[in-house]
Amino acid sequence: FDPKYIRNFSIIAHIDHGKSTLADQLLLQSGAISQREFREQLLDDMDLERERGITIKARAVAINYELDGVLYELNLIDTPGHVDFNYEVSRSLAACEGAILLVDATQGVQAQTVANAYLALANDLTIVPALNKIDMQTARPEEIKDEIEHTLGIDRAEVLAVSGKTGQGVPELFRAIIERIPPPAGDPNAPLRALIFDSKFDDFQGVVTYVRVVDGVLRKGQKIKLMANDIEREVIALGRFRPRETPCEELGVGQVGYVVANIKKLSDVRIGDTMTDAGKTHVEPLPGYEEPKQVVFCGLFPATHNQFEDLRFALQKLALNDSSFTFEPETSDALGFGFRCGFLGMLHMEVVQQRLERESNLSLVQTAPNVTYEILTRRGELLHVSNPTRIPDAGEIEEFREPIARVNFLLPAENIGAIMQICEDRRGTYVKTEYITPTRVILTYEIPLAEMIYDLYDKLKSSTRGYGTMDYEIIGYRADNLVRMDVLVAGSRVDALSVVVHRTQAERKGRKLVKKLKEEIDRHQFEVAIQAAVGGKIVARETISALRKNVTAKCYGGDITRKRKLLEKQKEGKKRMKQVGNVEISQEAFLSVLDNS
Ligand code: GDP
Ligand code: MG
Repeated sequence: FDPKYIRNFSIIAHIDHGKSTLADQLLLQSGAISQREFREQLLDDMDLERERGITIKARAVAINYELDGVLYELNLIDTPGHVDFNYEVSRSLAACEGAILLVDATQGVQAQTVANAYLALANDLTIVPALNKIDMQTARPEEIKDEIEHTLGIDRAEVLAVSGKTGQGVPELFRAIIERIPPPAGDPNAPLRALIFDSKFDDFQGVVTYVRVVDGVLRKGQKIKLMANDIEREVIALGRFRPRETPCEELGVGQVGYVVANIKKLSDVRIGDTMTDAGKTHVEPLPGYEEPKQVVFCGLFPATHNQFEDLRFALQKLALNDSSFTFEPETSDALGFGFRCGFLGMLHMEVVQQRLERESNLSLVQTAPNVTYEILTRRGELLHVSNPTRIPDAGEIEEFREPIARVNFLLPAENIGAIMQICEDRRGTYVKTEYITPTRVILTYEIPLAEMIYDLYDKLKSSTRGYGTMDYEIIGYRADNLVRMDVLVAGSRVDALSVVVHRTQAERKGRKLVKKLKEEIDRHQFEVAIQAAVGGKIVARETISALRKNVTAKCYGGDITRKRKLLEKQKEGKKRMKQVGNVEISQEAFLSVLDNS
């Protein structure tokens, strides 16, 4: 296939602006799927996992489209739509020459619209801007075009108007894709260079890699090399998604498809790596990507004893399909054996935990999430610590540094004051305000990542009645007056409850924390003291009084089946309990450190 007739592109949009629906509409209008299949995709809407759209499952779909009597091959490469996954967005974009920037004509430009547009520009992509949902009564096309012009410097005359749902404007969109996005450039006679932009694990085929051929040809039976890990294999199968898996004999310059090459472990494949001919030594690798950075960490422990190996197995299984989270064994005095896991962000953490519980039927105790700290010790060592219990005592620390995020909020102008207050409360530093229209602004702050990971997003949503959106990137580490705060329950330190706080907030947060713990920990037969301490000094204390005899008295006698039911119910409720010394602590208690406002 002559690369002149190939176009590789992605659709980028803020979540819910209609990316999946439009992708399916493109498949429908090119004849790749039927009307019935299109409707089924729309029905998929109710799916809990929101894994809507064929494109989500396929990641890269090849479409044939005829324009003015010429047949084109259009490769639609999918990108995830959430802040946590910016890293994945940019690696998908690297396989494209262009991107459709989709903006909901009823909602307008949102934080992810801006962030994704910048990622596309950073990858030198041609942007094809389009308003979506123009079939809706509440669409405000002229106003939203203004926003696009002001925020992104895109000429409003270039902005198309479509409806992914009805198909209106989609033929014009196809024309714009073909006419505006450049065809791939590459040398068919040069040695093979293919960009690996994604991979997945398949129980039958092993690792399936998604590639975009830049130079040369990729054929069945060919001996290939993965440059980063210097692994050589034979291509067993290759093909494209149209949208179903369709094997082919070869992939040429600019083409996108999948390759099966007897690779057993996901870790053998580096995303962003170059696939080349085996035996070739003088090939220049394609520019790769940075490794994904885990920014949020937490401990995961089985709620019941002796499920450590089950948890390990579950994590290994999940890692087969998500190589961007990390886990390593961790021992806690309080929680026993478990794992310290690292994630790309809070949503990523939630997704992984839910999948673990759902797919492996494990009940987990999670510790409060935290970030990675950089600690310069008095002896001149630089430590990277992602577990608060490993933070040295204050006397040994020269400098305590924390990651800082640069956060862009896109909000109604009337909410600026409220959001600024929220940022100030979180030790934020004001950077700037930009008006994109008289009523909408971009507000920029630098905020310690630790202060924003728990509830900043929720706070933003509630303060703006859902109209505010945000996006962030980590810009580096900064030293501050930070301390490790420990929690003692009945006199002994509960390691899994240690947190890092700013010294000026230690007392307030300590008081709040012990109060919360008092509510979460049940009464025992004896008095239980709960204390918060910084460097051995107690900053707050609460006492849980002993259980009185007559409370349990009620359980004696009575109907035996009712009593058994009660016991069972109690057992259910206690599933996520952990015995710490002679005190029982619930999952909720371990998470109470998290509510830090
Ligand atoms: P994504 O998160 O960007 O993939 O968005 P979806 O494609 O899942 O769409 C989000 C919601 O908007 C769904 O309820 C869709 O049915 C709806 N939607 C998408 N495109 C259109 C459109 O052109 N018109 C209308 N009326 N609704 C749409
Ligand atoms: Mg979607």
